[in-house]
Amino acid sequence: MLKISNYINGSFAEPVSKQYLDNYNPATGTIYSLIPDSDERDVQVAVDAAKNAFSSWSVLPKEERSNHLLKIAQLIEEKIDVLAEAESIDNGKPLWLAKKMDITRAASNFQFFGTAILHFASESHSMENVGINYTLRSPIGIAGCISPWNLPLYLFSWKIAPALAAGNCVVAKSSEITPMTAYLLSEICVEAGLPKGVLNIVHGLGNKVGNAITSHPDIPLISFTGGTQTGKTIAATAAPMFKKLSLELGGKNPNIIFADCDFNAMLETTVRSSFTNQGQICLCGSRIFIEKSIYDKFKNAFVERVKKLKVGNPKDDTSNLGAIVSQQHMKKILSYIELAKQEGGKILCGGNQVILKGECENGWFLEPTVIEGLSHTCRTNQEEIFGPVVTLTPFATEEEALFFANSTPYGLSSTLWTQDISRAHRMADKIKSGIVWINCWLVRDLRTPFGGVKNSGVGREGGWEALKFFTEIKNVCIKY
Ligand code: NAD
Repeated sequence: MLKISNYINGSFAEPVSKQYLDNYNPATGTIYSLIPDSDERDVQVAVDAAKNAFSSWSVLPKEERSNHLLKIAQLIEEKIDVLAEAESIDNGKPLWLAKKMDITRAASNFQFFGTAILHFASESHSMENVGINYTLRSPIGIAGCISPWNLPLYLFSWKIAPALAAGNCVVAKSSEITPMTAYLLSEICVEAGLPKGVLNIVHGLGNKVGNAITSHPDIPLISFTGGTQTGKTIAATAAPMFKKLSLELGGKNPNIIFADCDFNAMLETTVRSSFTNQGQICLCGSRIFIEKSIYDKFKNAFVERVKKLKVGNPKDDTSNLGAIVSQQHMKKILSYIELAKQEGGKILCGGNQVILKGECENGWFLEPTVIEGLSHTCRTNQEEIFGPVVTLTPFATEEEALFFANSTPYGLSSTLWTQDISRAHRMADKIKSGIVWINCWLVRDLRTPFGGVKNSGVGREGGWEALKFFTEIKNVCIKY
């Protein structure tokens, strides 16, 4: 059985404990590889390696850092088939999706930040007849990067690429549920000739490796993507140490549909924004609010489309949905469907586990589920489920839609469907989320600020925001 290794100081290493954790293929329900059960001792070796590497990496001309990142991007592109297959096996997502979205985007992340750093400039502030201030932006040191399981290499690289581009060294941890492409990335880094110690990947559990990273005194900045509860724990650890923090957390995103929308475009995109990646994208719209006058028309058309979605073997090109990432997560989603029933919800379609035939007979699959009849305040509509489950709620007025949309503790993204341009801008201004999509969903420009408000996080990733996060700012004032 394949044993994944840590990647520390440019070499592959066993965990100090010599212990391993099981890694499951969620589509078959079987263990297919072993993950290092690392702890603070492995993190310490990684920190030592990163500290040694920092003195040369941080002063390397940015063109050379850029070349390293572009080489990694090129190798990811060349190995897209292997990486996509690994991602699909590890996570359960359809292979076509891993190829089209996850791996393609991971290469783009390295390309984007590998070139962005060449154009990154700092500011100056002139004081008439007095003097001038200029701003220095320097790499900070060792960045701790921690990522979740839903978009494994995509989100891992979204942190690592800007951290490295800005001249930091990195100690990173991917999710213990989906470590495979992070491991393959370490092989790519060796092939790309990335200097040793610049990037270190330590595999293992959140409460061991993750905690050792966030509490390490020599790691002054933490970039974390994951659940809100974990974000709270990390913030509590990091705050008294005055660490720089970027937290990208959970969501409960509204998808607001007005009667004047382009119905067909909205319907097609709403199916995707509800169920892509089995609904396990932090940006999926899980609360769908529909203007009363088209509620029945939408409900009937949507449910008809959702019933046609195929839940199947992730290897199969015709599968719209693959497996849920773990048995534990599948049970959590099923428990929320039960809760929705207790709260008075009516299941319009789905609601059950899917048992497939053949090699996937023991896999963890769920029907895409649509529920109506719930109040906007019930737990089903307030808590993040993070699965293929959406609720439908009618609204009467723009004000009511806005009120419903803003009624959760979360504020990551939102989607609006209307042809009324004034209303779209009005709503976009008032809605409490970090990202608003109007008449589209998941259209991404990597230069734009990415992140949430309220319990969805602190700080922004993307473009200059990421490069600013990963650099320390200093003002220098000169009197004429
Ligand atoms: P999670 O919080 O359980 O785990 C995320 C990562 O944190 C993993 O690598 C985990 O090992 C690590 N971790 C766990 N406990 C830790 C601790 N005490 N200290 C340090 N690290 C720790 O999240 P998950 O279940 O892997 O991912 C799903 C969540 O991620 C959802 O809530 C989803 O909305 C969120 N998410 C948010 C975004 C975003 O951009 N806002 C993107 C993707 C996913």
